[in-house]
Amino acid sequence: DAFAIAVRWADEPRPERAPSPPSRRWASDPYEDQASRYGVLASLRGDALAGDRVQATLETSGLRGMGGAGFPTGLKWKLVRKETARPKYVVCNADESEPGTFKDRVILDELPHLVIEGMAIAALVVGASEGIVFIRHEYGPERDNLARAIEEARQRGALGPDALGPGLPFDVRIAVSPGGYILGEETALLECLEDNRGEPRNKPPFPGQKGLFGRPTLINNVETLSYVPLIVKEGAEAWKARGVRGSGGLKFIALSGDVAKPGVYQVPMGTTIGELIAMAGGTKDGKPILAIAPGGASSNFLRADAVDAPLDFDALQKRGSMLGSGAVLVVCEGADIVDLVTNVVAFFRNESCGKCVPCRVGTEKAVAILEEAVLGRGKKRHLVVLSELAETLADTSICGLGQVAIAPFLSVLRAFEDDVRARFPED
Ligand code: SF4
Repeated sequence: DAFAIAVRWADEPRPERAPSPPSRRWASDPYEDQASRYGVLASLRGDALAGDRVQATLETSGLRGMGGAGFPTGLKWKLVRKETARPKYVVCNADESEPGTFKDRVILDELPHLVIEGMAIAALVVGASEGIVFIRHEYGPERDNLARAIEEARQRGALGPDALGPGLPFDVRIAVSPGGYILGEETALLECLEDNRGEPRNKPPFPGQKGLFGRPTLINNVETLSYVPLIVKEGAEAWKARGVRGSGGLKFIALSGDVAKPGVYQVPMGTTIGELIAMAGGTKDGKPILAIAPGGASSNFLRADAVDAPLDFDALQKRGSMLGSGAVLVVCEGADIVDLVTNVVAFFRNESCGKCVPCRVGTEKAVAILEEAVLGRGKKRHLVVLSELAETLADTSICGLGQVAIAPFLSVLRAFEDDVRARFPED
C-alpha cells in the first residue's frame, strides 16, 4: 500500500480530545445545525445534470485557490473533469506551513464537515472515487477532529459505497505529511504520497492530467474546498455579492505580528488591510505601522500606506505584492526590517529541497550576505549580487519556493531604500 508510511502515523492512537464545538459562526457555513450537514451533497445525488450545473456555478463564482497561488478553481476542476483516465483522485492540501499562515488549522478544527463535503462535491463533478487529506504532522488535534468528522460522514452515508449516488463510491483518508514546507507544493505532495522523496516535479504534465500514480488528480486547499457547499447552495451571484469594493466572496485571513488581537478572521474579499487591523483592535500599543506583508512570508513587503489596499488577488498584485494564502503580517516601527527579512530568506534556505542548484546554493549565499548586513557590515556590491541572485532564482528554479525566495528582500530594498543601503556601507 503506497500510503502505508503516512497512514500508519495517522492511525497511531492519540490522546483523546473532546470535539471542540464551533466557537464562532462563520459566514461560509451554510448550515444552521449539525443535523442538516451534507444537505448540499444530498441535493446533487442522483441528478444526472448536477456535475454540469456545479461546474458552471463554480466557474461563474470566480472562486480562486486559497492556498497561495490563486488559480481559478473552476478551471482546475474542468481540466480534471475532461480527463478520461480512471481512477481519479481528489486531494485536499492541508499541509499549511508558510510562516504566519494558520487559517486552515481553524477551518479543520471548526468546519471539518464543510471540507469533507467540498471534497465529495468535487469528486462528483470530476468523477473521482477516492479522496486524501494531506495534513501537516504538527496538526495532531485537528487531524483527530477531522478523523472523527470523516467517521461521522461515513455513518451519514456522505462517504462510502454510495456516497455520490447508487454504486458511486467516494471515501476520504488522511495522510500525514512527514514534515517540510516544500511538501505543500502540489507535485512534491504527490511524490510524498507515492512514497518518494518529496521534491517538486517538472511541469507539465500538471496533476490534473497526470497526478497521483499518474492519474488525473484534483488538488485543492482546505479553505477552497470549504467554500464549495455554500457556493453550490447559494449560487455564484450570491457568493460574489459577499465581497466588497468589486471583489467577490469571502476570505479567511491569518493576522499576525504587531496587532492587538492576532488570529483568524473571516472577511468579505475586498476588505482593506486597515479595516482588518481595526477588527483586531489596532496595532499593539497603538504603535505606527512600518511595513505590511499581505500574503505570508513569500509576499512582498509594502509600506504602511498599504492599509488602504483591499485584500484581493488582483488589487494586491497591482500594489506590487500578493494575497497569497491570506496571511497578513503587520510590522510596527521599532522593528529591524533587515533582520526580519533575513529571517524570511533563511526560512526558504532551510526549506529548499535542494533539487535545483540555483535555489540550493543561491539561498545559502543570500543568507550569508544578509547576515553580514544585519550586523551593519554589508558590502555595496553585495546589493548587486542579491539582485542578480534573485533574478537567477526566479528564472531557473522549478518551483515557487526558489522563484520567490529572495524577492521579499528586494521589496524591502524598494520600500526602505535609504535604511537598507545604510546596512551595506563597505566598498
Ligand atoms: Fe527544490 Fe528550490 Fe528547486 Fe523548489 S526551487 S524544487 S525548493 S530546489
